[in-house]
Amino acid sequence: MKHSGILIVVSGFSGAGKGTLMKQLVHAYDNYALSVSMTTRKPRPGEQEGREYFFVTREEFEEKIEQNGLVEYAQYCDNYYGTPREYVEKQLEKGKDVILEIEIQGALKVKKAFPTALLLFVMPPSAGELKKRLEGRGTESREVIQKRLRRASEEADGIENYDYIVINDKLDECVEQMHSLIQAAHYSPVRNEELIENMRKELEALK
Ligand code: 5GP
Repeated sequence: MKHSGILIVVSGFSGAGKGTLMKQLVHAYDNYALSVSMTTRKPRPGEQEGREYFFVTREEFEEKIEQNGLVEYAQYCDNYYGTPREYVEKQLEKGKDVILEIEIQGALKVKKAFPTALLLFVMPPSAGELKKRLEGRGTESREVIQKRLRRASEEADGIENYDYIVINDKLDECVEQMHSLIQAAHYSPVRNEELIENMRKELEALK
């Protein structure tokens, strides 16, 4: 059974470990393509242009919006974040499963535009652990950490919109669990309309 690529949206509170998780998933299996977002946020130490993000000015970002060059975009803690359209469409055509690591407003927009998108929500084992991870990262000020924790509490209200929750306790197990969920999603009827339609036609022809 041949499958075309599906769009996978991964959200989770800031500090839940999504970035590491996605890198490992893409490294472990070769059918995934990880979309690199565009943002107006400043790079953190160690982040590279074109690897974690495309870092742009507000003007450049707004220009991209006007050109309809983004699949979705949202404002998060005073900055713009968005998904460039071209890469996503090309990879899906190639049959790759495309992963978007985006926050909840963007996730809901994607679900509307692509009803067969698979929405996964990554949670830390506990709220205390989340705070510890954010502080441990050592790259953000206390004020920014507080902002992100408040935002996490808002995002928690929207978790029911997602298809599955993944708890990021042990990294390896979490990667395997995500991969299994994605594999299973390929077999759902909503993502196999063509296969079903062909079977129906063949059955008709046999009557
Ligand atoms: P951070 O600043 O920690 O890298 O990202 C902040 C939040 O923005 C995270 O929840 C991340 O998933 C989200 N984000 C990253 N890229 C995009 C994007 O292209 N669109 C949307 N809507 N959110 C994004």
